[in-house]
Amino acid sequence: MPELPEMENYRRLLTPRMVGKRITRVTVTREKSVNVDAAAFVDRVAGRTVTDITRRAKHLLFHLDGDQALLLHLMLGGVLFWGTEQEKPERTVQVELQLGEASLHFIGLRLGYLHLYPTAEVDDVLAKLGPEPMSPSFGEADFRLALGRRRGYLKPVLVDQGVLSGIGNCYSDEICFDAGILPQTKLENLQEADWSRLYRSMRSTLAEAIAHGGYMDLPLFKGDALTGGFDARCRVYDREGEPCVRCGALIQRVDFASKKSYSCPGCQR
Ligand SMILES: [Zn+2]
Repeated sequence: MPELPEMENYRRLLTPRMVGKRITRVTVTREKSVNVDAAAFVDRVAGRTVTDITRRAKHLLFHLDGDQALLLHLMLGGVLFWGTEQEKPERTVQVELQLGEASLHFIGLRLGYLHLYPTAEVDDVLAKLGPEPMSPSFGEADFRLALGRRRGYLKPVLVDQGVLSGIGNCYSDEICFDAGILPQTKLENLQEADWSRLYRSMRSTLAEAIAHGGYMDLPLFKGDALTGGFDARCRVYDREGEPCVRCGALIQRVDFASKKSYSCPGCQR
C-alpha cells in the first residue's frame, strides 16, 4: 500500500502537470470508487480547474475551483498513471480525469477511492489523522509526546494513523532498521537515546524515500525514471532471507500483533 513517500512523490510530479489546467472530461467506470452518483460526479468535476494538489497522510487532495476537492486514497493495489490513451498500461481504469491531451488514470481502485467533497468538509473528513511526521514543526518532543502515551509494541503504534499519519508496513520496518531497534520492542522499554534515534531515522528514512520516488512499481508517466527508485533501497522490507546490508545476518520475518514485520536479528535489538 502506498505510504507517505509514494503519495508525496505523486503530488510533486503531478503538480506541474495538472495545476492551473481544466478538467475537460471525466469518466467513471466503477461507481463504487466515488462517493456520489457517477453522473453527478462527472457533472460536478468536468469543466473545473485544478487549483492545487496537497497531501495529508496517505491521501492526495485535488483542489478544484468552485470550492470542491477530490480526496484520493489508493489503499491496497491502487496506482496512478498520467498520460495519453496510447501510453497508459493495459490495466482497467476506474476513474479517468482528462486535462487536455493527457489524463490522470486511477487504476486498481478496489478498496481505494476518489471522493468529492465541498472544501469546507475536508478538514472534518480528515480530523482523526495524527500529525504529519515530515512537518517542519513536528520535532522530537512532539514525536515522543505522540507515541509516548501508548503502550505495547513499537510497530503497530508507528503505523497507527491516529498517532502518526502516513507511515505503513514498509516504512515502519525501514525506520526501525535505520534506528537499530526491533519493531517488536515494547514502547515502555525504549531508552532515552532510542527515542532520539527513532525520530531521526523517521525523518531521514522518509526524506530519502521521497527523494528517490518511493517504492511504487509503475512509473507515473512515460519516461518517468524517478517513481519507484526507493524499492531497490529498502533494507529490510520484503527481504526475508537476504543478507543485511549493515551486518550480513539474514533478514527475518516476524509476525506479531497481526502484522508481518521484517528486521535484522544481527544489528537491531
Ligand atoms: Zn544487520
